[in-house]
Amino acid sequence: MEWMMYIDGKWTKGERSVTFETKNPADGSHLADVYESSVKDTIDAIKAAKYSFYKDRSWRDMDSQTRGDILLKIADKLEERKDEFARLEVLDNGKPLREAQCDIDDAVHNFRYYASLIKVPHGGVYEVNEGFGKMHSYTIHEPTGVCALITPWNYPLLMGVWKLAPALAAGNSVIYKPSPYCVLSSIKLFEIFEEVGIPKGACNLLIGGAEVGNVLSGSTDVDMITFTGSTKVGQAVMRNSAVNVKKVGLELGGKSPNVIFADADLEGAVEWAMIGIFLNQGQICSAGSRILVEESFHDKFVKRLIERASHITIGNPMDNPDMGPIVNEIQMNRVLDYIEIGKDEGAKCVFGGHRYIVGDCAKGYFVKPTIFDYCTSDMRIVKEEIFGPVVTIQTFKTESEAIEMANDTPYGLAGAVFTSDGSRALRVIKEIRAGITWINCYNPCFNEAPWGGYKMSGIGRELGVKGLEEYQEIKQININLNPGPVGWYQN
Ligand code: NAD
Repeated sequence: MEWMMYIDGKWTKGERSVTFETKNPADGSHLADVYESSVKDTIDAIKAAKYSFYKDRSWRDMDSQTRGDILLKIADKLEERKDEFARLEVLDNGKPLREAQCDIDDAVHNFRYYASLIKVPHGGVYEVNEGFGKMHSYTIHEPTGVCALITPWNYPLLMGVWKLAPALAAGNSVIYKPSPYCVLSSIKLFEIFEEVGIPKGACNLLIGGAEVGNVLSGSTDVDMITFTGSTKVGQAVMRNSAVNVKKVGLELGGKSPNVIFADADLEGAVEWAMIGIFLNQGQICSAGSRILVEESFHDKFVKRLIERASHITIGNPMDNPDMGPIVNEIQMNRVLDYIEIGKDEGAKCVFGGHRYIVGDCAKGYFVKPTIFDYCTSDMRIVKEEIFGPVVTIQTFKTESEAIEMANDTPYGLAGAVFTSDGSRALRVIKEIRAGITWINCYNPCFNEAPWGGYKMSGIGRELGVKGLEEYQEIKQININLNPGPVGWYQN
């Protein structure tokens, strides 16, 4: 199969007809050659989306019932091909099969959720007695226009769907650019978009990295850009977007605290802490990468965490181990560098701390789950996002110290509290400056609940009703009920 981009309703190899290689991270073998978009391809996609939204208008003007039905068809087709999509995601990204299956289920439900939401009446009606007389005022929600959607590689299909479903539901014309590290499932999704008959130009797929991204964020023809990725690139997107003050949505990095009090259920806290940092090989923006544990509970907790971590299975993700490989060699080396930094900084590596090269895993990009104990707030491994299966442990003595340590980060994406004291759980969670928080669990995520960060973890929200509204403009329409003169000017 030829892995191509999709511009203005056509599959194309692009202006240059140049490919790059993607590899299976489990064994480094060749997976696919993918055609890469050029600057001209990017401009063509923007033109197509602009024409679709402002001239053709067929997607934008389609009634919301019919548009919603098309999204439902996408969900059905994706569900029918769940196995194929999940396996492709495993090959391309390295996540264990059962995690990939959950991602496809979530993607299916996301399309269904926004298909239903777009059919629900929205907007408000107000009767006002303003200084000039009696008026009716109402609001309508309109699509924002040409939206560029940029996503990372950690949830290749799902991160795209979190943007595509609400953006398309709202009637926008979109240009989608997934991470070039993992594009295959996105290309397959666009096959479905074509089958269900989304009008040409309303959805475009580009394949590339910074070059394409810079054209999208710097274009005055793009009305909105929504970006999921690192904080550093997010800042560049925001700067470029100033050119036409385009609407910006940012879902960025994190260094999230997982606060564990001595009265927590030991087994529950340990298992959730592992889900918090080892799921998806720790390549999760909301990962609980900083464990803060009450001093009196430290020894018991860490001993049990190491025992449980030692049973984690690592292997070919298609065989459904607990952990697969890191997405690629570059990212694996980045994680391994951080592990060395941690050792040099004086943190005590009490588990893992190296590449995993047992048997066939030697050919792939596997990293042993890694636990650093006796960490301090000044260490880089405590401050910087590693985006791998590496967790740091620090201790606290009091509730206020725990809160202070939890918030001692420029990020504010997520956080959790483990305790059997209900009042304390609510008190502490309220003090954590983060957009996504959990009590006595870590990482569950729902289509219905808005997702996003405080501080340098982002702007705006995805998912939920808010996730749809991000792709809409709200227009106020005011109607004067007495069309005669109001007598404001005396002469
Ligand atoms: P990244 O910032 O390197 O890349 C993200 C996307 O931006 C990719 O598609 C990339 O090609 C593109 N890009 C690169 N340079 C660009 C530029 N100059 N202009 C526009 N786009 C450009 O991030 P990554 O390594 O792909 O993903 C990991 C990061 O994503 C982590 O920091 C993680 O926390 C974050 N993330 C956040 C969320 C969230 O919901 N907050 C979810 C998943 C991942």
